Amino acid sequence: MPKFLKNKIDPYIIDVIGRLRSAGYETYLVGGAVRDILLDRVPKDYDVSTAATPEEVRRVFRDRHTLIIGRRFRLVHLIRGRDVTEISTFRKRPEQEDQADRPKRCENAPENMIFHDNAFGTSRDDAFRRDFTVNAIFYDPIDDKLVDHTGLGVSDLRDGIVRTIGDPALRFEEDPVRVLRAIKLVGQYGFTMEPETGKAVRASLDLILHASPSRLSLELEKILRNSYTGAILKAFHEYGFLKYFLPELDAVFETPQTDYALQLLALRGERIRSGIFRASLSTAVAMVALPFAEAEIGQTERGGLWEYYMGVESDLRHIILRLFHPLVLTHRTTSDAVNNLLMQIRFKTHRRLHSFADRKGYPGAREFAIIQNILAWHIPDFEDSCPLPVRSSGAPKKRRRGHRGGRRGGNGNADPAQDAQTVHAAAQAAESESVTESERDFNE
Ligand code: ATP
Ligand code: MG
Repeated sequence: MPKFLKNKIDPYIIDVIGRLRSAGYETYLVGGAVRDILLDRVPKDYDVSTAATPEEVRRVFRDRHTLIIGRRFRLVHLIRGRDVTEISTFRKRPEQEDQADRPKRCENAPENMIFHDNAFGTSRDDAFRRDFTVNAIFYDPIDDKLVDHTGLGVSDLRDGIVRTIGDPALRFEEDPVRVLRAIKLVGQYGFTMEPETGKAVRASLDLILHASPSRLSLELEKILRNSYTGAILKAFHEYGFLKYFLPELDAVFETPQTDYALQLLALRGERIRSGIFRASLSTAVAMVALPFAEAEIGQTERGGLWEYYMGVESDLRHIILRLFHPLVLTHRTTSDAVNNLLMQIRFKTHRRLHSFADRKGYPGAREFAIIQNILAWHIPDFEDSCPLPVRSSGAPKKRRRGHRGGRRGGNGNADPAQDAQTVHAAAQAAESESVTESERDFNE
């Protein structure tokens, strides 16, 4: 078995899995982290799956820093300072739903769509209820053992193949978000679809209109935080999926504005992967919006975007809301993106950017300005003369944000010893307000 795998995992996660195992519960690292480690990439969050029920997980950790969350399926958030690890209980594929159990607004949804899947099962059941073979590989870091229940996960990962577990058309009907997730794997990793999966994806694109808006907004957030945002959006457009997911963005996708936005996102992605930039959601939003803002309000008699005028915030906000319609970004994300765009006025010249370089604050805006300068002036090493007050490249010394990409990572004042109530409030606030966008958080 591949001994090196263990060394690529945060020791804290190994400790968490070890504690559940010592308490007698079969437990694995699962999902995207296993996929990323096997692909030699740095996982951005960790998912743990266990035979213990949420209540039993809490008991193992003596209720300390644990929260049971989720309506669709309940899982435990284990909180360590600002780090949150998601621990889910093995579940099985749900039986066909009773039509009477459907939420009212989903009466017209596909016959096989699933609305409840909280039935516990074995580890094998849990592998088979997952979406794709490459997402169903389990890793046991205690015995350093990979468990590939579908028998195809490791080989599909090696060959770069997206294959649903089971009948693709049915799996997409059960949960149309899987269509998005399949194309995301293509964009993010350059994978190809197994023919049957690809055929079903193309036939199921519009099913996404039945998915719940809150789940789609969460998926959008994850995509914008991803270092491959541009590649994923491109794959969505090429598959004809973007017109259902983000129709306004799709309508302007083949314009010089989108082309410029994709260039900005690509440079940002490279820097996130090398550890220089943080994966800021609002910066990604600002990068998508900037070319449209410049085209629409950059040259008006009111003075243009880069000469502040009364009401520019609201104009910028409208552009952002329109581009991401009908999905809803949190108020906080939109405000941070607007401020980020406004800060571009300050960073208009190299000299100003330099003068801000040593100050704390507006890190996302400065990262953005640096990238703009690189693109505008073709100075590839521009950032060397404008150092950012962030950790040097490479893996962070100590993880400071949530294992869930920071979305639930607590606020800038989070204290490891805070009581469960405060933690709960912080987690709830973070859930709705993308707390990692806080400038203060970043600079601490
Ligand atoms: P990322 O690196 O973007 O987090 P991920 O695959 O880990 O990718 P998550 O949303 O964290 O994505 O999901 C964790 C795992 O849960 C997945 O790898 C997959 O096994 C399973 N999963 C997630 N969404 C679904 C779904 N809609 N249907 C079935 N299984 C799913
Ligand atoms: Mg994940």
